[in-house]
Amino acid sequence: MRIRAAVLHAPGTPVSIEEVELAAPGPREVLVKVAAAGVCHSDVRLANGELGDGRWPMVLGHEGAGVVEEVGEGVSHVVPGDRVGFSIVPACRHCDECLAGRFNLCIPAGRAGPKGVLLDGTSRLSLPDGTPLQHALMTSCFAERAVVAAESAIPLPSALPLWQASLLGCGVVTGFGAVRNTARVQAGESAAVVGCGGVGLQVIAALALAGADPIVAVDRDASKLDLASARGATHVVEAGSATTAARVVNATGGGVQHAFEVVGRPETIRLAWDSLRPGGTAVVVGLAPRGAEVSLPAIEFLSDKGIRGSFYGAGDALRDIPYLAELALVGDLDLAGVVTSVEPLDSVDGALGRLRQGEGARTVLIVDPALAGYDGELRTPEYDRKD
Ligand SMILES: [Zn+2]
Ligand SMILES: [Zn+2]
Repeated sequence: MRIRAAVLHAPGTPVSIEEVELAAPGPREVLVKVAAAGVCHSDVRLANGELGDGRWPMVLGHEGAGVVEEVGEGVSHVVPGDRVGFSIVPACRHCDECLAGRFNLCIPAGRAGPKGVLLDGTSRLSLPDGTPLQHALMTSCFAERAVVAAESAIPLPSALPLWQASLLGCGVVTGFGAVRNTARVQAGESAAVVGCGGVGLQVIAALALAGADPIVAVDRDASKLDLASARGATHVVEAGSATTAARVVNATGGGVQHAFEVVGRPETIRLAWDSLRPGGTAVVVGLAPRGAEVSLPAIEFLSDKGIRGSFYGAGDALRDIPYLAELALVGDLDLAGVVTSVEPLDSVDGALGRLRQGEGARTVLIVDPALAGYDGELRTPEYDRKD
C-alpha cells in the first residue's frame, strides 16, 4: 500500500514527507496505523549519518503509538483495533540474552536493528521505484502506517491518549529503566542528571519517584532546567563553563552517588564522572556518535568510582512499557509535561533541526489527530535550516 512517510535519502540532507510503498505484514508481524510519534535524539543521529555508513535511504521514527490494523500469521497477543506502543527491541525471548533476562540485549533484535531490517532480514518499505528503504530501529513510525515485528507491538491501556503514549517506547522506558534497572537508585540517594531533554526529564521523574534526594539537573539551556525543576529536580546547575562539575559537587556536599549522562558526548560523560563522589557510578544513557571516545583520570578508580552504559532501560519492554502506561494513568508520571511542541507529521525536518540545536525537550508529531486523542492546535514552529 502507499503511505506518506519521512524519508532520509542521505545524511545531512532535509528529511521530506513522501509517498512510499509499505508491504503487508509477514508471519509474526503487525501492521499499525500510527497515531503519533515522538522525535528522539537518535533520529537526529541517524539523520546526521552519525551511527555509521549505509543507513539510508531510511524511513525515520522509532518512538510512537497507534492502533493495530492487521496481524500476520502466528500473532496472538494483539488483534486489529488494539492500541499499541512501539518497542525498538522486539525481544525473541529464546536467545541466550533473553533467557538470562537481558531482553534489551536480545541477540536477533540487536543484529537486525542496525541493518535497517525486520527480524527476517528484509524490509517492508520501498520507494515507488522499488528501491528498498531501511526501517529506523525496526520501527519507522514517522509514517501513516508501520509494519513491525510482533514483539515490537506492546499492548497499551485504552484510557491513555496515544499522543502521550507515543513517548513510552523510547524516551520514557529508557529514562525510567536507567534509574530502576541499571542504577537501582534507592530513596535518599543523591543523583545528578546531565542533559535535560526528552529522556533526561524522564530520568529526573524516575529519580523523584524513587525518592532520590538531592536531584541535580544540569543543562546549558535555562528553559530545560525550569522543566527539570517542575519534574522534581531539587537543584539546577547551568552547564557550559569549566566550573560546572565543581558546582554539582558543591551543591551536594562532595558529589553524587549516581550521575546520569543523557547527551551522548565525551565532554558530558566526563562531566557526569567528575560530578561523582567516591564510590559513585556514572550511567551513560546518551547515544554518542560512532567513533567518539572518552578519557577518564584512571587514578580515580582508586576511589571506587564506576561507569557503565544503559541501553533502552536495561529491562523488559514488554513488562515496563505497560507498567509505565499505568503509572501515567494513575497520575504518577506526567507524560504531557515533557512535551514542548506538538506538530503535524509534515513538520518533521524542522523538529529534527531544532533538536539538533538543542532547542526544546520533546516534540510529538501527530500523524492522525483523532486516533492520537489530540484536540489542540497543531503548529509548525519557524525554523531556518542553517546548513
Ligand atoms: Zn529514541
Ligand atoms: Zn532474544
